[in-house]
Amino acid sequence: MQLSRLHNSSMNLSGTLNAFKLLLNPGLCLPHYTVSTFNDIPVPLSRVFKADIRAVILDKDNCFAIPHQDAIYEPYRDKFQELRKAYPGSRLLIVSNTAGTQDDLGHARAEVLEKNTGVQVLRHRIKKPGCGHEIMKILQKDVDITSRSQIVVIGDRLLTDTMMSNMMGSYSIWVKDGIPGKKGFVSRLFVSIGAELTSPACKHGNSPRRISLPLGIFSSRSTEQLRVTCPSDEIYKPEARART
Ligand SMILES: [Mg+2]
Repeated sequence: MQLSRLHNSSMNLSGTLNAFKLLLNPGLCLPHYTVSTFNDIPVPLSRVFKADIRAVILDKDNCFAIPHQDAIYEPYRDKFQELRKAYPGSRLLIVSNTAGTQDDLGHARAEVLEKNTGVQVLRHRIKKPGCGHEIMKILQKDVDITSRSQIVVIGDRLLTDTMMSNMMGSYSIWVKDGIPGKKGFVSRLFVSIGAELTSPACKHGNSPRRISLPLGIFSSRSTEQLRVTCPSDEIYKPEARART
């Protein structure tokens, strides 16, 4: 089967292939900033990153929307409008691995999402984390971007959203806890790994080689106890980990 056909299939081939890059560079899945939920995103972002942020890439599922729903989760409506106001027009772009992909027949879901949010949804052939070039095509046409470090990617998945931002050479915000509610084992596993990766010990090394899983993933320990904060003075510069 041709590679392009595989890329278009419903499996996330981009995610599978790019996962191998983590073996060489584990820092690719490290976020620059961590928040608990979408409502905790600090706006404007320029103040947090001490950089001239001109565009924001927004994940959908478990970020600002309940997974598989194409509308803003009601309690996040005000924060969403705050982001829209700070980053108007094409400066805010939704990039989802469901709506707007080849799996979204006729891009019907992308159209519904655009109607419900008032924000453009990227139509892309390759799924995150491999669609950075498709994002740049849109931004370079519509936004005055002169450096990829003027872009912030926001999402709940370290292996797709965060990794894509690092591959692009952009900043990233990890929405660690996503939408409130009961989480499955896999979700708790990834949150625990992420919490470990973003712990102070890993930050100082900036290239975690050994991951010890907190026992909390096997218990009912609340995610609040795993809360990770990343003060702005500990933010890494994206150029340091950029692999394009
Ligand atoms: Mg997501």
